Amino acid sequence: MARKTTGRPAVKLPDEFHAFGFHQDLLAWYDQQKRDLPWRINSDPYRVWVSEIMLQQTRVETVKPYYENFMQQFPNVEALADAPEDQVLKAWEGLGYYSRARNLQAAARQVKEEYGGYVPDTIEEISTLKGVGPYTAGAILSIAYGKPEPAVDGNVMRVFSRLLYMEDDIAKPSTRVIFEELVRQTIPADRAGDFNQALMELGALVCVPRNPQCLTCPVFDYCLARREGVQDRLPVKGKAKPPRPVHYLVAVVRRGDELLISRRPEQGLLAGMWEFPMVEAKPRLDPADLLEEVLQDRYGITAAYGGELTRVQHTFSHLHWELDVYLYEYEAGAVTADSARFVPQDELQAYAFPVAHSKIIQALIKTAD
Ligand code: SF4
Repeated sequence: MARKTTGRPAVKLPDEFHAFGFHQDLLAWYDQQKRDLPWRINSDPYRVWVSEIMLQQTRVETVKPYYENFMQQFPNVEALADAPEDQVLKAWEGLGYYSRARNLQAAARQVKEEYGGYVPDTIEEISTLKGVGPYTAGAILSIAYGKPEPAVDGNVMRVFSRLLYMEDDIAKPSTRVIFEELVRQTIPADRAGDFNQALMELGALVCVPRNPQCLTCPVFDYCLARREGVQDRLPVKGKAKPPRPVHYLVAVVRRGDELLISRRPEQGLLAGMWEFPMVEAKPRLDPADLLEEVLQDRYGITAAYGGELTRVQHTFSHLHWELDVYLYEYEAGAVTADSARFVPQDELQAYAFPVAHSKIIQALIKTAD
């Protein structure tokens, strides 16, 4: 397939895809097999939007309860735009990639202020919303507004790599653009949203990463990789860098039945979420000395070392956290950091914590049992 190096790539779908009714076969299968999912109840643009953001890098089964709860708390753009950020983060707690929640709310505010609450229906306008990239834009425009825009995610790239026996590295942004062009040539104007969802569904249920179910595949006859018997080797995906390990020390400071918690900065990883005071470990410094220094310098308090509580690990896409967690008993001093406060342990559930710190809370509850 000839390709340009810039602009929209000059790729062309093989004629047989059009001639033999690829869409009809795929859509007929989708009509019969599609899963009953809460965001498919209707095609309200806001509902589609929230579901697509939640589904990024997250499994369908994990998303379902979060989605239902989110929709109850924030049933429309205005409700989300007007909610306190803490409430939104709390509703997202445990789903990970929290910048998605913050961006979603920032974009909801933008939709309320600039578009009167109407989710934009053009690629130019919708692409200006925070957190809405080419995939999400294509998904909303096609599913909610029926526009023939491609929505190419990892599932769709895997399916197309196999269907067309393409060995382009799907980790490269330029490959996504090639697939978008190919999907664009395939989308039927009258069922754009169903077609995009059918491709995603095929990738999720049949053309799965390992051991694709070719014998039950509705587009078996079109698949070039299957014809050559190479489907298990596709797609080609360059290796991502392994997550960088970071070792932290964490202090759980008790004052009676209260615990000291602190809010992370408004920018960066886990922005705006709550955590127990923590500091990156230093090779030649004793953990207890380092934590005592941090409690004094950063929070203005002194506390007595009370022993080890637990060790927690958590992996992000680019980082691997190892947290050594220690107990402390508050001794003296007023908390000087604006971002920190003592909170009764039974009120912690009102605050949004990242998964690693939620595990610390679980460990605390266990020790109390
Ligand atoms: Fe995927 Fe197999 Fe279907 Fe090809 S035939 S699209 S490899 S499931």
